[in-house]
Amino acid sequence: MTCEHLEKATDAVPASPYQAGCPECVPAGFRDWVHLRVCLECGYVGCCDSSPRRHMSRHHEQTGHPVMRSYEPGEKWRWCFVDEVLGP
Ligand SMILES: [Zn+2]
Ligand SMILES: [Zn+2]
Ligand SMILES: [Zn+2]
Repeated sequence: MTCEHLEKATDAVPASPYQAGCPECVPAGFRDWVHLRVCLECGYVGCCDSSPRRHMSRHHEQTGHPVMRSYEPGEKWRWCFVDEVLGP
């Protein structure tokens, strides 16, 4: 099962390296994110919904960008915020 956003989404170059952590949390002095995600529309890097500040969800709310993917080493899955569908 998939959706139009997942079908259309192409991969994006992450706007910051994984090792640098969440680019929203770090400048604010937080180091307690759980996982990192990448927006496939613009390359924005943010922390996941299991993290206290959920920057990737906030990015979707602010921009409407529909699809993100995992930025964790070895993980490839993608997620559509609009349809709440998990894709390969
Ligand atoms: Zn979708
Ligand atoms: Zn964050
Ligand atoms: Zn984006």
